[in-house]
Amino acid sequence: MGILDKCYNFTDAKEAIAAGIYPYFHALQTSQDTEVVMDGKRIIMIGSNNYMGLTSDPRVMQAAKDAIDKYGTGCSGSRFLNGTLVLHEELENELADYFHKDAALTFSTGFQTNLGTISSIVGYHDYIINDSENHASIIDASRLSFAKKVVKYGHNNMQDLERVLKKLPEESGKLIVTDGVFSMSGDIAPLPGIIELARKYGARVMVDDAHGVGMIGKSGRGTASYYDLEDEVDIIMTTFSKSLASLGGCIAAEQAVIDYVKHKSRPFIFSASIPPSNAAAALKALRIIRDEPERQKALINISNYMRAKLKEAAIPIIEGKTAIIPVYTYDINRTLMITKMLLEEGIYVNPVIPPAVRDGECMLRTSYTATHTQEQMDKAVDAFKRVFSRF
Ligand code: PMP
Repeated sequence: MGILDKCYNFTDAKEAIAAGIYPYFHALQTSQDTEVVMDGKRIIMIGSNNYMGLTSDPRVMQAAKDAIDKYGTGCSGSRFLNGTLVLHEELENELADYFHKDAALTFSTGFQTNLGTISSIVGYHDYIINDSENHASIIDASRLSFAKKVVKYGHNNMQDLERVLKKLPEESGKLIVTDGVFSMSGDIAPLPGIIELARKYGARVMVDDAHGVGMIGKSGRGTASYYDLEDEVDIIMTTFSKSLASLGGCIAAEQAVIDYVKHKSRPFIFSASIPPSNAAAALKALRIIRDEPERQKALINISNYMRAKLKEAAIPIIEGKTAIIPVYTYDINRTLMITKMLLEEGIYVNPVIPPAVRDGECMLRTSYTATHTQEQMDKAVDAFKRVFSRF
């Protein structure tokens, strides 16, 4: 079999396009906001991760423009050598402060942050213990590491976590990694239970709070803050591509951990640093989130309103407490059909199909923004009612 035969034989996408239900790569003709234009049509966006509504905030946009004026468009190299700006250091200092940790380190994407952190921290004699629903970047980071073994526990299941931990050698290095707010279900990780077991079995804890930051915790500081456990979480990770309205990622941890990762992490050392505009946008967004707690309150109110209204309309949502509200659609074709019909109604949602979920557990991932208006929410609920009444 030729190396490219799998590409030549890949027909799934073509078939979905031919059937008119292909849901991917819709190009926006406007900025990412609560309403966007696709194919010339105005669409209400309930499928983005722009939780704080800052991607088109004039202050964030101005900060990005000012950074271009001052530092140019790119850094042309790694943080390690020529690519560190005082702006990166300023951003890292504020991130460390925000997460109540000694220090922070920025990477060029959230995906790379997980790759670079987990692969450098976990060595030949160590174990990684993953929640079974952890993000793909954690799974790939685990593969990239030289871990003696990567083990999984049932999603948010503390009994299963204990069963797994019990089997590992007592003296070995162990890193438990969990999403803080899970990207698909919106579930919040049970950090008190995880930390109790980590202490009991000598493990360290890393929380990927890509979705938690902005959304939950004091001043939007995420899952560790939500439980008042910032001191107990060893490594807090987040991305800049969601609430922070930019691109990039970071970890915050004790100084020794940051010093080690910044000298050992290959995805950090051998890749160029975040462009000035992205660093400045993330820094401005961070300050706004910190200084404007009303955004987080608005997001909670909007999410609670949508949860209540969708439930009232008998739409099969998955219960939760965050701004991610999944709706069960079960099989693939039905999921893609409903996605298409909602789009025709002027509503964009994300279809979630295997391999992101198990067969028969397909869903629509709806997610909300602090700046969604009452009118937009009510239009979205009405569209859901109309589309679901046809199934
Ligand atoms: N972790 C989680 C939980 C995520 O959902 C994502 C992005 N979807 C990432 C990491 C990767 O972040 P980025 O998009 O910045 O690469």
